[in-house]
Amino acid sequence: MVIDFERARLKMVDEQLVARGIKDPRVLSAMGRVARHLFVEEALADRAYGDHALPIGERQTISQPYMVALMTEALALKGPERVLEIGTGSGYQTAVLAELAARVYSIERIADLAVKARRLIASLGYRNATIKVFDGTIGWKDESPFDAILVAAGSPEIPAPLIEQLKVGGRMIIPVGDRTTQMLKKVIKTPTGVEAASLTGCVFVPLIGAHAWAKEDE
Ligand code: SAM
Repeated sequence: MVIDFERARLKMVDEQLVARGIKDPRVLSAMGRVARHLFVEEALADRAYGDHALPIGERQTISQPYMVALMTEALALKGPERVLEIGTGSGYQTAVLAELAARVYSIERIADLAVKARRLIASLGYRNATIKVFDGTIGWKDESPFDAILVAAGSPEIPAPLIEQLKVGGRMIIPVGDRTTQMLKKVIKTPTGVEAASLTGCVFVPLIGAHAWAKEDE
């Protein structure tokens, strides 16, 4: 059976994103362009545009399309931004960010995932995204400060280095809560601290690192 992936993708944009209130035309058009089915195993490609997360190996997941859209829209990217992403996973969110910002720096703690994502991102022609294997809770000091930070794993609190590496006026999206369920927070850095708003409840894999969960609890 030949699957019409482009049709499935445009249906996803209409039925899962527009229908649920995603409005930013740049986000909608980026998610209409990025071939999500390439970021999952071939055996799962027919489910790539479904309304759910999917396994990507190493007990990790590619997030539900709506969650990717909601988090991306909340960063309010206009084009010239430098963005830090924590939790590269499959690289799908990295590609969406690379469509929308000038530079994307993405950190993944699992080397096999980072290597695969790096290869795919390069083969798709993105020249503005760099992926490294590291503990993302420490951030990427040499490339800071960032206009926007997207954390794609659940943290017990907002890692202090990430607040430090955000510009004043910069936005961070991060799931905060326990190891199984979290609240998606939008954090804005102010001259005196941060302002945080709750967006929605969510379920992410744990953020594991020096400023989040310890590995032994995995
Ligand atoms: N956005 C990704 C995508 O499009 O495929 C999915 C991200 S997945 C939900 C979360 C990822 O965060 C996992 O790949 C996990 O290994 C990674 N992760 C967890 N703790 C991390 C840390 N401290 N630094 C970097 N990556 C981390």
